[in-house]
Amino acid sequence: MGGMPTAEPSSDFSKTARQLSPREQVSGVLHSLLRSRFGFQSFRNHQEEVCLNVGLGKDVLLVMPTGAGKSLCYQLPGLARGGVTLVISPLLALIEDQVDKLKKLGLRADRIHSGRTRDESRSVCMQYLLGNLDFLLIAPERFSVPGFLGMLQKKKPTLVAVDEAHCISQWGHDFRPDYRSLGDHLQALRPANIVALTATATPLVQDDVCKQLRLTDETRSIHGFRRNNIAIQLMDTPPSARLPMIQSLLKKESDRPAIIYAPTRKVAEQLYTDLKSEFRTGIYHAGLLPLVREKNQHLFLSGDFEVIVATVAFGMGIDKANIRTVIHAGLPGSIEGYYQEIGRAGRDAQPSRAVLMHSYADQRTHGFFLERDYPEVALLRKIFEKLTEDKKPIELVKNEVASQFKTDEVFEKSLEKLRIHRGANIDFEGNISKGVATWERTYLEQKQHKEKMALQMTQFTQSPTCRMLGLVKYFGDQKDSGAKCGVCDDCEPSQHPNGQRVLSRVEQGWVAQIMAVLSVSDRRASGRIHKDLMENSPSITRSEVEKILETLAKASWVTIAQESFEKDGKSIPFKTVSVTSLGRKAKAEDLAGLKVLGALTGRSEKKKKGKRLRKRRGGSV
Ligand code: ADP
Ligand code: MG
Repeated sequence: MGGMPTAEPSSDFSKTARQLSPREQVSGVLHSLLRSRFGFQSFRNHQEEVCLNVGLGKDVLLVMPTGAGKSLCYQLPGLARGGVTLVISPLLALIEDQVDKLKKLGLRADRIHSGRTRDESRSVCMQYLLGNLDFLLIAPERFSVPGFLGMLQKKKPTLVAVDEAHCISQWGHDFRPDYRSLGDHLQALRPANIVALTATATPLVQDDVCKQLRLTDETRSIHGFRRNNIAIQLMDTPPSARLPMIQSLLKKESDRPAIIYAPTRKVAEQLYTDLKSEFRTGIYHAGLLPLVREKNQHLFLSGDFEVIVATVAFGMGIDKANIRTVIHAGLPGSIEGYYQEIGRAGRDAQPSRAVLMHSYADQRTHGFFLERDYPEVALLRKIFEKLTEDKKPIELVKNEVASQFKTDEVFEKSLEKLRIHRGANIDFEGNISKGVATWERTYLEQKQHKEKMALQMTQFTQSPTCRMLGLVKYFGDQKDSGAKCGVCDDCEPSQHPNGQRVLSRVEQGWVAQIMAVLSVSDRRASGRIHKDLMENSPSITRSEVEKILETLAKASWVTIAQESFEKDGKSIPFKTVSVTSLGRKAKAEDLAGLKVLGALTGRSEKKKKGKRLRKRRGGSV
């Protein structure tokens, strides 16, 4: 790879004057095609540089927020180079949408995926081999169809684009097993250069994507995590108080269109039922029929629905510019996922807001999901032990171990994990054979990583700093200015949905007690402080204590440190509180000057917690 445009006879490069350097040639062609074929007047930030690199045959990793215009970064140089650009994309809806758009531009694009008939697919292959396509879009699982890779090899693409490339990394929040062996397959299509695109990748995921796809000498373009038009607001709100809060948040028409992310399908259904009489509301989750899902998504994009209640299954590739509000009706499982979801707000650069409702109870819900989605290693081992080098039907294995699994679901989950981590090979006909023994290590690593992601999300809700800055730092955007966003609830508390208020008498009493115990101990765990306060106020909840501590931290009377200890191989988080020199100097009359965000709603939470948690459990995305 590398070097100059491998000019095919039909390439636009061949029409360019000979005396220019390769870079100048490419640049000229890119500029002219940008206008003539795509109808854009100019490049957006970073597009030109990326298009140049891709056009010059380099491997590229491109991380830019959704809506930034990543597609152009392979479409334009692909077209300029001539030959076919092969695009790999995880969702059929995304593929269909892209093909539509390309065709509307008069480009020769087609797709092969499981939603098409055998005849249709065969005819697309024909067109591909005849050189009648500029773009071929496929889903990654296509590579496991016998003969498909061989077909591509007969006439290799000039460029390969891997969209939503974070799906290849098990350290990402959206790992897809079908992406797993993509690196191997793409190797067979070299010397085509590869561009990997995603809107979400921490430095760890970036490294992993490059490694898994075996990019060589790649250029990494990581840009623009900061979104200063999204006001992030965090609200400590118990589940029972979320519906009325959502209703009031969406009351003004200017706060819609809105996406509401629910933690489970069940919660999504409930919110949908509760909201649809008030707003034109749709619902989206993976439990709905594909047709229904697509219809609802379409109605939201077209503006017929002004609110959509969804699980995390919703949103990949969504291109709707005027979303004013994104609400999380529960704590997300990872910062990556959260950032992706709020990033769908305000693509039109107009002021928008992202409200995150969370409470102490959410952390337990996460624990439950984790247990459900990541079965004990011992269970996976039971299946693994029954596997042999020779293939046998899955049903046979299932019968052998069934008695040791509580439900079919647990068996399925365990088998799925075993397959993902290559402990089991499953072929097209549903036969299974023994895989590699390393599955145990990689599975455990991934499980721990998931736990860590959930923990980081919790910590995000607990750190009293600018919310946007917290996110930008998390993604390691080194070129970021480091400035506060000026619009989040930390920068601008008066804009918080709950407003700001002074402490009640009772709360002032709690503060006085906390300051008293802290004055005689260096550091105290927040759980201990809760117990201290319960001596005098037996019904005080953990949320109430957390909120008071947050208030004190904001006033710089205390500092809060995140710590954790290991128990049964798990990392259990806890917080310690220490008094600052300012706090030591605080007097009783200063109490009236303390400001807290919103009402303390924790009291009702405690009584109903058990019941609500049971209700919230179960159901997936
Ligand atoms: P991403 O993949 O980064 O989420 P897309 O590639 O889907 O973003 O682009 C988002 C929108 O921006 C699309 O509607 C696209 O047509 C538009 N767009 C991309 N590049 C430009 C440009 N240079 N000028 C104007 N609009 C652009
Ligand atoms: Mg995209």
